[in-house]
Amino acid sequence: MKIDAISIFPEFFDVLEISLLGKAQESGLISFEAHNLRNFTHDRHKTVDDTPYGGGAGMLMKPEPWGEAFDQVIGKDRPVVIFTSPAGKPFNQELARELSHREHLVFACGRYEGIDQRVVDYAGTVAEVHEISIGDYVLNGGEVAAVAMIEAIARLIPGVIGNNESLAEESHNEGLLEAPSYTKPQSWRGLEVPEMLLSGHHAEIEKWRKAQSLERTKQNRPDLLDK
Ligand code: SAM
Repeated sequence: MKIDAISIFPEFFDVLEISLLGKAQESGLISFEAHNLRNFTHDRHKTVDDTPYGGGAGMLMKPEPWGEAFDQVIGKDRPVVIFTSPAGKPFNQELARELSHREHLVFACGRYEGIDQRVVDYAGTVAEVHEISIGDYVLNGGEVAAVAMIEAIARLIPGVIGNNESLAEESHNEGLLEAPSYTKPQSWRGLEVPEMLLSGHHAEIEKWRKAQSLERTKQNRPDLLDK
């Protein structure tokens, strides 16, 4: 999978060189490139923002640098362009899975009060566009959101994480949260591993985990049960 990110702070993406995603880049499962939006400006100050029409607080990202960045990054393969935005549709595991099957993703990271809407509209003429939010809160910029999405998407590509079975047993895989997990030692600071997990009865353990998973979902995410 090819992944590009366009941002005024491309150094935010250095974290993608760490751990499993770093290995996936080394092995060629993923090719990632961060592009500095300021390289697509032509004035001495490398300006990427301007005041909003109609008034209002703060500055907006102006369209011209974005247009030139897209001319270079988008190419002819009609990629998926993801605009990180608190006003976007919610990111979730289902969307991560869908995007993990695509060949080329481009993440557009806003700053200031966001990006001139025409940039989104223009991107829609040369690519498949999604505006996506990682949660109901506002970040200073789209880089952290893009990194979170890239990690969630890329780990679903076969070969990126060592053990594919762990993907099948995770939270959100079947619309529920994962049951609590335990490792050694059996007793720690007066707290014991649940007896059932020591029983060796795999079918019973499976039933116990299902019940725990349901209970945890009821407690922490009752909205998932409604679905
Ligand atoms: N004025 C915008 C609004 O109210 O919708 C918020 C702009 S925010 C300060 C700057 C940038 O951070 C956004 O353009 C977006 O790229 C990113 N961002 C902030 N919160 C986000 C979220 N929850 N999910 C994805 N991206 C987010």
